Amino acid sequence: MACVFCAIVERQAPARIEYEDDQVVAFQDIHPVAPVHVLIVPRRHIETLNEVTPEDISTLGRCLYVARQLARAKGTDERGYRVVLNVRALAGQSVYHVHFHLLGGRPFRWPPG
Ligand code: AMP
Ligand code: ZN
Repeated sequence: MACVFCAIVERQAPARIEYEDDQVVAFQDIHPVAPVHVLIVPRRHIETLNEVTPEDISTLGRCLYVARQLARAKGTDERGYRVVLNVRALAGQSVYHVHFHLLGGRPFRWPPG
């Protein structure tokens, strides 16, 4: 399978799964950049935010809701956390299957680098 996140969704590749339902899967980032670093992905393969269709709206909303729930489960919701979605080259997207980063457990600067 060409897409590593599709492979994780299909349980063809290893991952530390944090949450899954019929639309969304969340798993730990393999190279965490913060004490909390979870990726939340739609099961459907969508390359980037640019390829999202109206049919994906509820799934993407669900991704954000899962981010919020995991932030609470990991104890970072009250102090603060960041949710990031990188789109294409200038933003540094490296895996072309839409994913939200849930980052927490340390301060984050603004503006981002
Ligand atoms: P982005 O730069 O927004 O495309 O983020 C891709 C993220 O996927 C990076 O933080 C990688 O560390 C992470 N990643 C890549 N391959 C895997 C994998 N097999 N399992 C978990 N996370 C991965
Ligand atoms: Zn994919």
